[in-house]
Amino acid sequence: MLLPVLQFPDARLREKAVPIERGQIDDALRKLAADMAETMYDEPGIGLAATQVGVAKRLVVMDLDWTDEGERNPRILLNPEIVRAEGITTSEGEGCLSVPDFKSDVERSARVIVKARTLDWEEVEFDATGLESFCFQHEIDHLDGVLFIDRVSKLKRELYVRRRKKQLRRELEEQSAGSSGG
Ligand SMILES: [Zn+2]
Repeated sequence: MLLPVLQFPDARLREKAVPIERGQIDDALRKLAADMAETMYDEPGIGLAATQVGVAKRLVVMDLDWTDEGERNPRILLNPEIVRAEGITTSEGEGCLSVPDFKSDVERSARVIVKARTLDWEEVEFDATGLESFCFQHEIDHLDGVLFIDRVSKLKRELYVRRRKKQLRRELEEQSAGSSGG
């Protein structure tokens, strides 16, 4: 089932997600993870955090190299945590399914070591660089209520916020014109 992805400035994107305990892994959580993966492929994206679908739990799905024709093996991670970060680099042209019509370079750690749990409560660890590392940082930020626009310059962010507000106002006007004018 496809889930609606919340969009900036929805306040729920700012919630800090809570850790998932072993006893909370049930069919509902498995279904949520499967639905999140389906939604990620549909959008399309390479990562999605539960925060983005209005669930304040520390759950993310990721798949860096899926294709329309190929096999899909979404990584489903509970309680992902950066245990070590090294170096500084630029993530070029980063974007977000929750931040429509905006892309920007973002300063990120060059390498991260991430620990997480699977749905079977297995402990997994990743040593990531490049796109994989940026994706981890971006999704874990979501779980803390942080968006990538928080990591760009104030000027860039303010310009985007202004543009986005204008766009939302226009959509609202079009909706009300449509409903009254038929
Ligand atoms: Zn995002």
